[in-house]
Amino acid sequence: MKRKDINSSRMPVYRDAGFELYDATTTADAFKKETQHSREPDLYIYSRYRNPTVVSAEEEIMKLERCEWALLTQSGMSAIDTALSIFQHGKDTRPWLFFTEIYGGTISFIESVLKTRRGLDIQYFTPDNGNYDLNKFEHTISGLKPEFVYIETISNPMLIVADVSKITNIARKYGIKVIVDNTFSSPWLYKPLSDGADIVIHSATKYFSGHGNITAGVLCGNDKKLMEDAIEYRKFIGHTLSPDDAYRLQTQMQSFELRFSRQCSNAFSLAGYLNKIPVVKKVWFPGLKNHSTHLIAEILFKNKGYGAMITFDFDGKDPVEKRKRRDKFIQLVSEKIKLIPTLGDPHTILMPVEAVWGAKYPEPGMIRLSVGFEEYEELENTVSMAMNKILG
Ligand code: PLP
Repeated sequence: MKRKDINSSRMPVYRDAGFELYDATTTADAFKKETQHSREPDLYIYSRYRNPTVVSAEEEIMKLERCEWALLTQSGMSAIDTALSIFQHGKDTRPWLFFTEIYGGTISFIESVLKTRRGLDIQYFTPDNGNYDLNKFEHTISGLKPEFVYIETISNPMLIVADVSKITNIARKYGIKVIVDNTFSSPWLYKPLSDGADIVIHSATKYFSGHGNITAGVLCGNDKKLMEDAIEYRKFIGHTLSPDDAYRLQTQMQSFELRFSRQCSNAFSLAGYLNKIPVVKKVWFPGLKNHSTHLIAEILFKNKGYGAMITFDFDGKDPVEKRKRRDKFIQLVSEKIKLIPTLGDPHTILMPVEAVWGAKYPEPGMIRLSVGFEEYEELENTVSMAMNKILG
């Protein structure tokens, strides 16, 4: 028996691969309208195109980013592929400009897929002394006339905050689109689309899921043409998120703001604490006055918080001593703070920077923390116990 109108308070999981379309006229109509709508019409065709459970989770993200459309994909990387690929139009494609301080996986995708396989003209924009020089940026884009510029609101692992608002204003002056990976700041701190950005991307694997148990991505925007292009590309490539993952994501997103605000406040307290530890040489956290982009963060995030990531470097007389302190810290905190290569989990987790980023950030004593939403006191106790033993 097919059951309709059950009084459930939430969208159920629709696992149908294909949906019933009744007759030829309805079928033709459904196919004709499909790429014009991220949500409606109600006639679903095939889950690789669009699925009601996925659409319901997308609506949740639209509320958070306050935008006209959101499209969920199977990972942050597939959201990035979709957002970028819709700007590729054969040999007429103009250069694509990427800020250098972006996720390492995105850089690898750019180098191996976009440059080597697809032969695209890729250009990079580099920060000077931990900050993006906006005069230099304007000079670069006015000469290069790229299709788009691609930035992350908060970079990884140096946590450079890009002045997305000003960058977008400059790009718009030259008719250049702006794509923002907003994973690290999340819409709770900043909504780039409200400042005129064209596409916002998230690795929903991180703060939206928030529990380290879903791999998903999303791209969002307001422009209808970009939406239609993205719907079509996602459908052709098959990047659409599964209904089961969409259901779990939507459920976990109910607590997103609670979790993320607590993570930001824990990170703020812990960064201040680490900044005073004698064995720590330097702490990178946009909430600290000594961070190269502290003032930008203060304005852009309106004092709500500064994200939940902290990078710090152990002091030492040479690289050997620094590595020793780093390794001892990792071992001492391992019961409570695990080495897990992701971020945005419920508990604080860490990554040794040199082991992951290699030559790009070769500081041997550096550790990146993704701060969780556990009790702050418990977190500081774990870190201080380790620091006291290292100080010895
Ligand atoms: N963007 C950022 C800023 C990331 O940190 C990551 C992954 O760590 C991605 C995108 C890719 O997301 P996913 O791992 O969900 O594909």
